[in-house]
Amino acid sequence: MSVASTSAPPRQVTLRIPLPTGARRSADAEPTQEGSETVDVPTVVSKRMPTLKVITCPYCGGLDQVSPKAMSIFCKHCRKRLILENYKITSYYAVREFFTCGDVVVEKKGQVVASIRAATLIVKGNVQGRAIIRGPVRVAKSGVFRGEINSPSLHVEPGAVVDALVNIGGNA
Ligand SMILES: [Zn+2]
Repeated sequence: MSVASTSAPPRQVTLRIPLPTGARRSADAEPTQEGSETVDVPTVVSKRMPTLKVITCPYCGGLDQVSPKAMSIFCKHCRKRLILENYKITSYYAVREFFTCGDVVVEKKGQVVASIRAATLIVKGNVQGRAIIRGPVRVAKSGVFRGEINSPSLHVEPGAVVDALVNIGGNA
């Protein structure tokens, strides 16, 4: 009797220990069991999240996430085909719409006549047209820009020529 009564408290202690661990195990097990089906999608997304880049559609302004390797996608908002590449223009380039989600650099020998929409724009050569740029625009000392600039910021280096209607920080 006395042995049983003294052995009873240790039993209670040993019983208390398995209970929380059992509870933890079941708590851990529940999400993983559900995770095999429902958490599957978030797991994949969380793995892809750091490698995805967010782009802004130059046509409708809609946001989308794309793989950095993607060259083009169709905007899920306006269904237009979006170019995601960065451009370096080193020769004469004249188009009606020069739209990309990437960055545009017009090199010294580059000459662009176009309506430009891009993430950023660096002008070291000659640009004529209307530029709607989501990020900063830089006109280097060798650069000439004629037309219209809409962007959040504009940096004009000494020696650069900017003969344009300029709208900085306003609505494009
Ligand atoms: Zn769009």
